[in-house]
Amino acid sequence: MKIRLAGLIITGILITWCHAIFAEDAADMAAEEAQGWVFRKNSCITLIYPDDINLKKLEARLKSRCFSVSAIEKDMFANPAYEIEDRIMARLESIFLRTKEILAMDPPSMSMKIKVFRNRYELSDEYYLIFKTIQHYRSFYVHGLKTIYTSMQDVSDSEISHEMGHAVIDNYFTVIPPAKIAEILATYVDSHLEEGR
Ligand SMILES: [Zn+2]
Repeated sequence: MKIRLAGLIITGILITWCHAIFAEDAADMAAEEAQGWVFRKNSCITLIYPDDINLKKLEARLKSRCFSVSAIEKDMFANPAYEIEDRIMARLESIFLRTKEILAMDPPSMSMKIKVFRNRYELSDEYYLIFKTIQHYRSFYVHGLKTIYTSMQDVSDSEISHEMGHAVIDNYFTVIPPAKIAEILATYVDSHLEEGR
């Protein structure tokens, strides 16, 4: 599922706005950290999750699909010598690389957040906070916020690859394709993770 937040897409155009937004982001991050949210960041992905979730479960959920990766990539997400948080970030990066490869789209300087809630109820509450309407999705992507939202009840590499598909499509095209086309392409990513390598 992908939701557009049209009003927010134009943010960042003016430098003064950028400064305001970055300051706001930093303030939001500090406030969320104080509320028990953990932020993990690599070059293109920021993973945000409550500090009491089961990271082993999250890691296992992100490794349900078996698509081939380079030896270096596999070492990064499978080598028990690394911290579990680092392995999870490496796995997300592999899914992201695979998503871009399947779509043959590589938007420059693309980054995204992935926010994982404890359950669907918390996820639906977040949806309501953003859109002031009630929906119960397993996960969704909001382009205006460059964020994938999901929960521990449904997170998986399948879900994440689908939502990353939406993120890549929306970042790649200057004119964002119709929702039905984007949905077909995002579903294509999920269903072709293991193929063609
Ligand atoms: Zn979708």
